[in-house]
Amino acid sequence: MVVDIMFPKNCINCGKEGKYICEKCELFLSEAPSIFHQGSLEEVIGCWEYEGLAKRIIFKIKYDGVFDAINELIETAFEKREPYLPENTIITFVPMFREKERIRGFNQAKLIAKKLGKITGRKVLPLLEKIKDTRSQTKLDKVERLANMKDSFRKKEETVCPNNVLLVDDVWTSGATMKECAKILKKSGAKRIFGFTLARTV
Ligand SMILES: [Zn+2]
Repeated sequence: MVVDIMFPKNCINCGKEGKYICEKCELFLSEAPSIFHQGSLEEVIGCWEYEGLAKRIIFKIKYDGVFDAINELIETAFEKREPYLPENTIITFVPMFREKERIRGFNQAKLIAKKLGKITGRKVLPLLEKIKDTRSQTKLDKVERLANMKDSFRKKEETVCPNNVLLVDDVWTSGATMKECAKILKKSGAKRIFGFTLARTV
């Protein structure tokens, strides 16, 4: 993992030292409204609109390994809106195909989930696993995305699905991935499933 404590943080927009997105540039982030009743998901909080600065910083997290930016984005989001979670909610995340995670060295959804666990004091458990190495979703339309995701996840054998789950991913675009994961959680016994992503398309 990249340890970046020794390096000063600079605003990715204006270069100002101190944060990845400084107070001034934070104003360029647009808060995104929640999405309700998507398949088995009750409510999905997708903090920011997936565009401009939010898109650039998530790219940096995924491809340059700027993990610290995750903490900053979540803290900023929580100042505005703390997600409602029922008692005993367990946090879980969209898994990556094992070989892909090995190559990248991390799963950003897991890192986001860990940070959420820290802030909310809830347990983070890996409940799902990815069993199919799917194509990248970026160039697929909505119908193709759903087909691409079908049967690509399953519940981890050794886990028991809790009643209330918060499912975490980095970005919500078509929702195909999270809906597929939520479907499996529901089938495995989850009663209420909520979602959290750093950003979403609006
Ligand atoms: Zn700035």
